[in-house]
Amino acid sequence: MPREDGKIKMENKIKVGILSFQGSVEEHKKILNTFNDVEPIEVKTFSSLNKVDGIILPGGESTTISKLLKIFNLSVPLKERIKSGMPVWGTCAGLILLAKNIEKETPHLALMDISVKRNAYGTQINSFVTTKKIDEVSKEKIPLVFIRAPWIESVESKVKILLEINGHIVAAKQKNMLATSFHPELTDNNEFHKYFINMIREYKNKNFF
Ligand code: GLN
Repeated sequence: MPREDGKIKMENKIKVGILSFQGSVEEHKKILNTFNDVEPIEVKTFSSLNKVDGIILPGGESTTISKLLKIFNLSVPLKERIKSGMPVWGTCAGLILLAKNIEKETPHLALMDISVKRNAYGTQINSFVTTKKIDEVSKEKIPLVFIRAPWIESVESKVKILLEINGHIVAAKQKNMLATSFHPELTDNNEFHKYFINMIREYKNKNFF
């Protein structure tokens, strides 16, 4: 509930976690700070994980982030919270962490019914930017940044495909789990973050009543 001066009390803000071991943490934080009812929280410990209403798994290097999750004993509690319904959004490496199948590799959190191909677009020099309209997310076209990006080779029927480019799936959703091959945090467009924050808002309302 907004106060008379228009500010939102800290305890009423939506607490959006960013897994903060490695990768594009600051960039997500900067975009989350454009919403005055959101408080970004860096998650590196069990107690910080417990504070958040939803979590972003950022881009970076999926193998490194996965190792650090285990070293810091966060892998199991994070998996449990996601299974209990907490919204999660994996961008790029984060998408790889969520996948149940990774081509030629052992999966990490193994939660989402998607099969993923790492570095599917090639190396760093094959990184690219494009703009697309994603009906579920916004009315306008939004910029999409791909950096050594994976794509989703196939999904099971429980998964909703949000965007395909040239026959490859690059955004998908399964219940409380959102996954994108690209990096909305590296643009100045906050529509995708707005969409994820709404997923968290719905989850919070459902749990409250
Ligand atoms: N290539 C990275 C991986 O496989 C992901 C790249 C990114 O997150 N931008 O983990």
